[in-house]
Amino acid sequence: MASGRAARAEGGSNGAPGGTVGRAGGASSRDSAQGLARDPARGSARALAEYRRRRDFGRTREPRGGETRAGGEPVFVVQIHDASTLHYDFRLEVDGTLKSWAVPKGPSADPHDKRLAMPTEDHPMEYRDFEGVIAEGEYGAGTVIVWDEGGYRNISRDRRGNEIPFAEALARGHASFRLDGSKLRGDYALTRFRGGGTDGGSGSGSGSGDGSREAWLLVKREGGGRGGAKGRAGGRAGAKGAKGNGARTGSGGAPGDPFRARSALSGRTLGQVSAEAESGTGSGTESEEGPGSGSGTPA
Ligand code: MN
Repeated sequence: MASGRAARAEGGSNGAPGGTVGRAGGASSRDSAQGLARDPARGSARALAEYRRRRDFGRTREPRGGETRAGGEPVFVVQIHDASTLHYDFRLEVDGTLKSWAVPKGPSADPHDKRLAMPTEDHPMEYRDFEGVIAEGEYGAGTVIVWDEGGYRNISRDRRGNEIPFAEALARGHASFRLDGSKLRGDYALTRFRGGGTDGGSGSGSGSGDGSREAWLLVKREGGGRGGAKGRAGGRAGAKGAKGNGARTGSGGAPGDPFRARSALSGRTLGQVSAEAESGTGSGTESEEGPGSGSGTPA
């Protein structure tokens, strides 16, 4: 669907250099940690300003946001977004919002793969449940499904082995975490290799989308935690729940064909979500107009 959309999908315009960019793991010393402490309460509202600015909530059923989740294990979500350029949106809960990156090729379970991850604006917590169709003409127009979700744990450590708070690790440009999803399991790292500079600690990691755009790599870490045989087995067990999850799931839950992948929430494919939206039986299209009409998004 969708030719000649006016809206530019987040992360949609950049090519995917694949495994050749930058280096992982070497960036931890580039920034000083000073001034990175943040106020979570203040951060959430401010962080969503950019998200809201880009959207007309009379026209899209994407959540406006406002929920603050207290306590418990932080969550992650990976959505497949069939926008003008299909990509994966990788989101981690940090200080009450979902820090977000557009990953053109999606996460890989192979530690040798370095996946380009372009920061996008913070998303509200409610977005972790969002699947549906963003109408043509709207920002990010296209179909969204939740490919995987679950909890994660911060495993970022300094050289002496002391834990680095997650928000601080991200601000420094290198954060490690252990994913416990139904497809993705094991240890991953996000490393900034371009941009950021002194702006690393600001509320919006995405910057303005102009100028020297930040770029990160998402890499599976070797060994570590459940990344071994056990983690791999877990990944398969998870994939079994979402049957038909792409052709190449041999390596621990890595995405195969995104059009065959099934939602971790609803079991639906992109095509099914799109078809349901068009026929009006499902969720997520706002073509009928009216966020007030009550049907909302499905659980
Ligand atoms: Mn997206």
